[in-house]
Amino acid sequence: MTPSNTAKTIQINGIVQGVGFRPFVYQLAQEYGLAGRVANTASGVQIHAEGTAQQLDGFVADLQSRKPILAHIVAVDIQKAAPAGYRQFKITKSQGAETRATLISPDVCLCADCRAELFDPRNRRYGYPFINCTNCGPRYTIIDDIPYDRPKTSMRYFKMCDQCQAEYDDPDDRRFHAQPNACAECGPHVSLFDNRQTPLDCSDPFVRTAKLLKAGHIVAIKGLGGYHLAVDATNDAAVERLRKRKHREEKPLAVMSADLAIVDAYASVTSAEAELLTSIQRPIVLLEKKMPEKLAFSVSPRNRFYGVMLPYTPLHELLLAQGFTALVMTSGNLSEEPIAIDNDEAFQRLGQIADYFLTHDRQIYLRSDDSIVRLAAGQTRPIRRSRGFVPIPVFLKAAVPQILACGAELKNTICLTKERQAFVSQHIGDLENLATEDFFRLTIAHLERILDITPELIACDLHPDYLSTQWAQAQSGRPVFRVQHHHAHVAACMAEHQLDDPVIGLAFDGTGLGTDQTVWGGEVLIADFGGFRRAAHLKPVPMPGSTAAIKAPWRMAIACLSQAYGGSLWDLDLPVLKTVDPEQAQIVARMCTQGINAPLTSSLGRLFDAVAAILGLRSDVAFEGQAAMELEMIADPGETERYDFTWSDTDTRQIAAAPIIQGVVSDIQRGLPAFIISAKFHNTLIDGFAMLCQELRKQYRLNQVALSGGCFQNRLLLEGLRKILKSYDFEVYCHRHVPANDGGIALGQALIAAAAAQAQPTKVEI
Ligand code: ZN
Ligand code: ZN
Ligand code: FE
Repeated sequence: MTPSNTAKTIQINGIVQGVGFRPFVYQLAQEYGLAGRVANTASGVQIHAEGTAQQLDGFVADLQSRKPILAHIVAVDIQKAAPAGYRQFKITKSQGAETRATLISPDVCLCADCRAELFDPRNRRYGYPFINCTNCGPRYTIIDDIPYDRPKTSMRYFKMCDQCQAEYDDPDDRRFHAQPNACAECGPHVSLFDNRQTPLDCSDPFVRTAKLLKAGHIVAIKGLGGYHLAVDATNDAAVERLRKRKHREEKPLAVMSADLAIVDAYASVTSAEAELLTSIQRPIVLLEKKMPEKLAFSVSPRNRFYGVMLPYTPLHELLLAQGFTALVMTSGNLSEEPIAIDNDEAFQRLGQIADYFLTHDRQIYLRSDDSIVRLAAGQTRPIRRSRGFVPIPVFLKAAVPQILACGAELKNTICLTKERQAFVSQHIGDLENLATEDFFRLTIAHLERILDITPELIACDLHPDYLSTQWAQAQSGRPVFRVQHHHAHVAACMAEHQLDDPVIGLAFDGTGLGTDQTVWGGEVLIADFGGFRRAAHLKPVPMPGSTAAIKAPWRMAIACLSQAYGGSLWDLDLPVLKTVDPEQAQIVARMCTQGINAPLTSSLGRLFDAVAAILGLRSDVAFEGQAAMELEMIADPGETERYDFTWSDTDTRQIAAAPIIQGVVSDIQRGLPAFIISAKFHNTLIDGFAMLCQELRKQYRLNQVALSGGCFQNRLLLEGLRKILKSYDFEVYCHRHVPANDGGIALGQALIAAAAAQAQPTKVEI
């Protein structure tokens, strides 16, 4: 090697340990002919490199652009250094303790190299369902404690054979320090059982399982973050049977297909969606169906989309290789309960649903559902953020204290903060039963341990009845900070985009307790982390029967019609008035006028429900948001007209729903089709809120708009509002990293609590 004339010290922080980063640096240094060394440090990886300036520049650029797939670089610090006269490049021993400051990788899909070996009859791991390497395999779901080393994972029960150990010890091997490294000789194995836990004698469990599936049986399959319930997605009777047994009547079921070409036969896949499907996170991607429907009707009834994913573990690859168009792969649980992970627990809980069990002997320490994303406004929008993404933190603009935020009630996630990182947990679920509450507590304890976080402050929702709030308030010795739900939504969006100046926040969702004790959900807030001001909201309507109205949109229809027409609503000729029982309808109308069990709500989600019901789309729903979803799906994108959108000239503006409802009713009476009316309703909200934002911009001198809340899962609304606001020169911020729905709430709660703890005064005039 020629004598070096320059040297640099490069410190890299992020997910750079246990992901093959040092071997990568080593090989790159060889390529550039550099001398020096690389070592793990307490906070990442440190490199000392010597060579010509040109060599070093290329090396530094490639470090970032060619990094291993699991590596996630947060910061790179490059300093000039004195050449020490190294003659070669080496990987040196770790400097000091590899402490808990390093980040843990999420679980990621099988890599191309391992996949090739899996299907290569000459390879010693041919057909081995647990093949992995430094670039792929389980991480988050098998970790019990840190530092991330085999003895701290569920692989500790499998002693590596000599060959595996040799790979593990060799810096030149692609399995160097791959903690879950295994082979058929020394690693975990699959086995097939019937639902009474009797093993089935078979030479190839995958061939046998495929036969069972093709015969229409339901098979519980143990995967990476929990059990799936699988059934042939082209067999309508089998899918129906699964729905009945799982008590899941209408929500679409996710499917898995072997590759893109097969998916292309039943769903349309854009190139951006193909990229998402094949990304290392392998999420469920919402894809538009091809018509006529190629999969069983009951997979995704009355929905324009399929939730589709590709195989992400070798086990899935081997199963899908048996020749299926698609398998339904839905979470292994009873509706509303957490996904099963433990083998005995699975037989107990899923024995009534599944006919057979394809299971294995590697334990899952932390359950993690499949993530769900969709593409909207040209970006990935998470709907459920779990496997593949967690525990990658959201990187914050400034350091914050260690805080635990407990999230909301539905689609719960929790968030832990530390320095400039906010760790949002995987999807925990609806905190409505004991099983989910246990999972909630377990996730908090587990994450605190593996992230080494001891929260000094706890944040929770304002709602006193949420189990998450009650849990927070039962913790002694630490202050509890209660955060208004929609303020948290807006703050979550700000946190993602590293904003800290006040924004105009549009928080649109179904339900959240307001500071005036009414139910909010159509809120325009002037907000920063320190506080907020309610600048505008939908004019409240009664919610007859309180939460009963969520499952019965016809009740909201009566409430809105009653507000718009008073007693003369009964003279209207509307589909909804014909489908509901007249006596019931009268009772509900009286509840509204007399204020009996009818809390007031300004929720936009409920207004969607009301319009869907008035149109006769749906008077009852199986899950929250179903009516709104169906309303979105029928809208005619070519329609440009809209209804009146007006607001009061008061300090806190009230947006009148009555003119919108009257517009809808008169269009129904004119005989306009529902797809036009739905489009006009969407246009009304898009144009209307954009006009309102312009007025607020003048008043508050703010140009940043943050869009958050479950209603922004509606692609028409999100894309429409974003587009028009941008055309008015607003800076528009939408969720990319955490869901717009309540799955993102915990992040906002944490940042608001941090501002309070650090006594950051609000710049919002309240
Ligand atoms: Zn691999
Ligand atoms: Zn082995
Ligand atoms: Fe919400």
